[in-house]
Amino acid sequence: MGFEEVFPKALKDALESITKIPTYGERGASRFMYNLLKLPKEERKKVAKAILQAVEVLRPCRECFLITDREVCPICSDERRSKKFICVVEESQDAYAIERLERYKGVYHVLQGRIAPLEGISAEDLTIDKLMERIERYQPKEVILATNPNVEGEATANYIASLIKRRFPSVKVTRTAYGFQFGSLIEFADEYSLEKSLENRK
Ligand SMILES: [Zn+2]
Repeated sequence: MGFEEVFPKALKDALESITKIPTYGERGASRFMYNLLKLPKEERKKVAKAILQAVEVLRPCRECFLITDREVCPICSDERRSKKFICVVEESQDAYAIERLERYKGVYHVLQGRIAPLEGISAEDLTIDKLMERIERYQPKEVILATNPNVEGEATANYIASLIKRRFPSVKVTRTAYGFQFGSLIEFADEYSLEKSLENRK
């Protein structure tokens, strides 16, 4: 009997579809699937149902690309949030990490990634055009570049900063200070260092 006949088709299909998720290789897919299957049947059905519901209702905000369950996210549609401050982050989870502090009163812009030439990700793959359009529309006082403090996050911030300086010379561009360890991701930075980093931007 060959492997094809031994290996369950349902498992093969599930693993194959999970590997379609960026950064989930075969190992990631295996870890997820085999551990999921360790849960009691009712529990694993709950996980699957929650994922199904999430993929049905979640989408990027039409304005800022933050993952939300509405067409325009609650931050963009909140009149009390100042559009004079735009905080640029790589991913939605970075914005939510800052949001959890309940200190920042401006809006966000989610790039949906960072410039990573080795992975074939260039500026055109990100939401930079839309950012420029929003800067033109809102005429913000300040654009805060809060990309991750690693080589790619730095390069992405530098690229966007020079683009803004060229097109909107009167807009102030700041970079969050490194209150957290070099190479750590914003999402995992502790609240204290994240707050310090936002305060000590330059
Ligand atoms: Zn939004």
